Amino acid sequence: METQDTERRLPTLCIVIPCYNEQEVLPITAPQFKAELDLLRERGMIAPDSSILFVNDGSSDTTWSIIEGLAASNAAYRGICLSRNRGHQNALLAGLMECRSFCDICISIDCDGQDDIAAMEEMVRAYLDGCDIVYGVRSSRETDTFFKRTSAQAFYKLMSGMGVETVYNHADYRLLSRRVLDELSRFEEVNLFLRGMVPLVGFKSTSVCYKRHERIAGESHYPLSKMISLALNGITSLSVKPIRLITGLGFIVSIISFIGVIWAVVVSILGHSVAGWASMVSIVCFIGGIQLLGIGIVGEYVGRIYLETKRRPRFIISERTFEADGDDGENR
Ligand code: UDP
Ligand code: MG
Repeated sequence: METQDTERRLPTLCIVIPCYNEQEVLPITAPQFKAELDLLRERGMIAPDSSILFVNDGSSDTTWSIIEGLAASNAAYRGICLSRNRGHQNALLAGLMECRSFCDICISIDCDGQDDIAAMEEMVRAYLDGCDIVYGVRSSRETDTFFKRTSAQAFYKLMSGMGVETVYNHADYRLLSRRVLDELSRFEEVNLFLRGMVPLVGFKSTSVCYKRHERIAGESHYPLSKMISLALNGITSLSVKPIRLITGLGFIVSIISFIGVIWAVVVSILGHSVAGWASMVSIVCFIGGIQLLGIGIVGEYVGRIYLETKRRPRFIISERTFEADGDDGENR
């Protein structure tokens, strides 16, 4: 009776893995995830029906057939396929929302083997100790290229400077409990930035440090353009600080202009007025530039509002390797 009780309390884990054109990586990393799952199960930390959920983000290669093959070979593998490529954040959200029907805790991780799979054990232990959110934090960036390292560092600095609360050096490797997932499902934004949204959910959280490896195979799907767009999404969907900065700047420029006008009036009254062409042109350019920048930033927000008001679905699931539990896709 005692053992049955303890067994019943073991959490069912689901490892959620977004995959986009990962045919080279998946056959290598999938057994590694499975091995970790088996290890946690053997150690009596998670329930026997724990699983791995792959989210195929509209890959154009053989990723989906690899996932189907895995699911057919072992019940621990599951897969869902999005109707088209929607980007990492949307694919991840699709997996997180999907796994709610069959797990108590989930761990999201990239499928390229860069994040240390062994850190999962510590994450589950932290959950068993009472944490609802466990962030995987990179202890060093030695394995990243110089460009990736500096751009990523700039990214985190920019985020915190712009008032978005993120966990430094934490990407999307984290454990979330079922109730965090349920609360997260109430966040309805279309412009997703999960690592900024999760801290907003609250609950008890902690961090686990791990070393990041190099990508096992294939190439990064996060070139500079996608990183800038992620940063922009993060800032505009979670903070209005840029607009406040513009207001502040506008205020300062107005005061300077006001002083300039008084100065001009005084000079002309005193009769020393000499036409200063250069200063005139530079002031006009300066104010013109500031105005355009201001309009641009405000425009970014207006654009986001436009997208949010449409309330389009954030992902559409086209296929599953398993029977879905009632609710299909997003429950808005
Ligand atoms: N990914 C995705 N959709 C995309 C781009 C990436 O699902 O449009 C997945 C990808 O398969 C990987 C994860 O997101 O599992 C992180 O991507 P990647 O490793 O290329 O980014 P990096 O680690 O270089 O930031
Ligand atoms: Mg990667």
